[in-house]
Amino acid sequence: MKKVALVTGAGRGIGYGIACALAKDGCDIVVCDIHEESVVTDALKGLEALGAEVLYCRADVASAAARAEMLEAIRARFGRLNVLVNNAGVAPKVRADILEASEESFDRLIGINLKGPYFLTQAVANWMVEQKQADAAFGGCIINISSMSATVASPSRGDYCISKAGISMATQLYAARMGEYDIPAYEIRPGIIKTDMTAAVTEKYDTLIFEGDILPQSRWGLPEDIGKAAAMLARGDLAYSTGQVVMVDGGFTVQRL
Ligand code: NAD
Repeated sequence: MKKVALVTGAGRGIGYGIACALAKDGCDIVVCDIHEESVVTDALKGLEALGAEVLYCRADVASAAARAEMLEAIRARFGRLNVLVNNAGVAPKVRADILEASEESFDRLIGINLKGPYFLTQAVANWMVEQKQADAAFGGCIINISSMSATVASPSRGDYCISKAGISMATQLYAARMGEYDIPAYEIRPGIIKTDMTAAVTEKYDTLIFEGDILPQSRWGLPEDIGKAAAMLARGDLAYSTGQVVMVDGGFTVQRL
């Protein structure tokens, strides 16, 4: 039976790159995004062209009701879920110094980047336990997309950094809790990836990447780079490595002298 993978924020960018890699590996795909379906039609068609059966769920991951409705829709359509990729995330609307940044922005980022995925994982993890108890051969896996901001301090977007540090700990917690069911939890920590999220700072990063010495591998990361890492984890290639962080950052965090 084909695996079913839920990828949040898969309407574009890194999430779509991950969904494509999983579809190529033979998974059926649940795309979760906040937009109306008509906005993501091309993405859905692209996944179908790769051989996946595709379900679109319009859901805001920050909403408990929307998360519950989405899981009900997945149960009704597929009756199973093997892979959860918590990818949906947002940057602050304005980058503001931590001496001035607002509580409103903090609450928004924590809601979408941390609280939503944390409780989505809780609900999915319980369902995965149920599936494992019904069938010992069931294979499940949880993947969180964090950021190098989980450990690299940017005082102009403290809310983002804290949300990513939090999702990093959430991975450790679920790795510790789900070990007894042999359901691994991993974190993929991307560096600078070319997507709509970084479009506003293209020039800044172009200069740092191509004229500076910020990356040992001097190119932008691509959604496919994250997709390949996620596919490796979902396939079970790192089956005995629950809790691990996979860096996909062109060597950004390699200490150099
Ligand atoms: P993006 O803005 O291009 O795509 C994000 C997708 O998530 C969009 O389709 C958006 O509609 C969806 N989304 C946003 N809020 C949502 C919500 N509340 N519920 C459901 N879906 C929602 O961004 P991206 O660059 O592809 O980023 C994907 C993930 O990777 C994010 O968690 C981001 O923090 C992380 N990341 C990105 C970079 C980068 O350089 N682009 C680096 C490190 C980490």
